Amino acid sequence: MSPSFHRLAARNRLSGRTPRHGLVIAFAMLAILVLSGSTLPPGATPFHLLGVPSDGGTPVRIQGWERDGVVYVSVNDLSRFLGLEYYWRSDLGQLTLSFGSQGLTVTEGSEIAALGDKLIHLPGPVMMWNNNIQVPLEVIVDEFGQARSWTTQKINYYPRERRLAAKRERGNSLRDIRIMQDPQGWKLVLRASGRFRHQVLSTSQQSFVLRLRNVNFDPVMFTLPPDHAWFQGLRLRNVPDALEISFSAAPSTVGYTVTASRSEPTLEVLLGIDERDLREGNLEEFSGRGAGPAQEITRIVLDPSHGGRGQRTHIDEGARSFAVCEELAATLQIDFGIDVVLTREKGDNPNAENRLNRANRARADLFLSVHVPEREGGPSAFVASIPQASAEVPNELRNLGFQPTVGVQEDALNQSRLLARSILESVATELNSPPMGLYEEAIPELQGAVVPAAILEIGVTKTKLSRKEARKMARGIIEGLKLFVVMGEEEQP
Ligand SMILES: [Zn+2]
Repeated sequence: MSPSFHRLAARNRLSGRTPRHGLVIAFAMLAILVLSGSTLPPGATPFHLLGVPSDGGTPVRIQGWERDGVVYVSVNDLSRFLGLEYYWRSDLGQLTLSFGSQGLTVTEGSEIAALGDKLIHLPGPVMMWNNNIQVPLEVIVDEFGQARSWTTQKINYYPRERRLAAKRERGNSLRDIRIMQDPQGWKLVLRASGRFRHQVLSTSQQSFVLRLRNVNFDPVMFTLPPDHAWFQGLRLRNVPDALEISFSAAPSTVGYTVTASRSEPTLEVLLGIDERDLREGNLEEFSGRGAGPAQEITRIVLDPSHGGRGQRTHIDEGARSFAVCEELAATLQIDFGIDVVLTREKGDNPNAENRLNRANRARADLFLSVHVPEREGGPSAFVASIPQASAEVPNELRNLGFQPTVGVQEDALNQSRLLARSILESVATELNSPPMGLYEEAIPELQGAVVPAAILEIGVTKTKLSRKEARKMARGIIEGLKLFVVMGEEEQP
């Protein structure tokens, strides 16, 4: 007999019901269990998750099952745990999950989820089982276990531990950004959900960069204003602990002001056009030149991944990564006068140690390894994992099984993260493909590097890369290097 039968019987005794009455209920209960409770869809195995609430309260059990590597959970359990609302339209077989105003719609039998006009491909179809709507866990987390951008309740999924942890929402998000006309010129008005501090990193006319501390923005949900003649190439990106805003001011502008409101979480950047305002001190003067990598970086080690003999797929990847590095090297050398050292020749495939030795001997300013595997999805980047002893190591990394390692890379790690983020974001923008993520892993080439070091991985869906495609990737990396230099200037005292 099942434990629930015993519990039910015991409760009935306590409540003073007659045993006979209790028995009837118990039998009815058992019948329901046999008919529905313990069965799973064909080929599925039970996969229960532990839901850890954001307030540190008692973890809850979320019933789930797995089939062909896809974890399903019932929408009931999921919504109860996350405080998620859902609406089921049985006539359409459509389910909308929502956190406040943001919603994701899925359809029974379909692997496509709709988020506004964006589509998310799920690893399995939404289905009905035991009168419960069952959804792949990937409606709320991506394949790396990171919260989907539509979920305002942040969640992390740890497959090894079968743990779903809701994170307390921290900080502040960008609510609105608009460009408006002003008597003095044009202004960019930024509004966040709460108070923030700002910092102006670069006041160059070509590259005006500022940061809003502890503010983040959601690249999927947030729509940037259309390209504007005054704020050219306006770009937003999340950097560690801040939102970074960058643009080029139109050549006809003569100065700027940056003003934070005292009463509201808004910031205005004004671009003025009248020389008199500048003379009268109503505008500040731009600083001269925009920072370019040539001023700061004199030598780069590029590591084209794989190469030479080996598995067929790795020969192809080696050729692709070499093609990207060749384009990159040519631009860095010719256009920026930067020295480039490659870790391998076109046909070889040295091991990690040899690559690392070459890199460290080169006395370069940074190390970048490029992988171009065959896979779907946007670019990703890697930096070395950090030692467990460090106060910065989040528990989540330990829980994911990352091993503590102490290496020479430790001192350069903050710069490596900055490098990886800068390149990742710029490549994603150039390829118009949202980044998959920035990961910390115990990779020997990175751990042993004495300078800022990162791996960039750009997935492609075909074997060969055209020259045009390689150039596009190289262009994205160059833009990332420029950003890295602009930001690096601020980071170093
Ligand atoms: Zn690779």
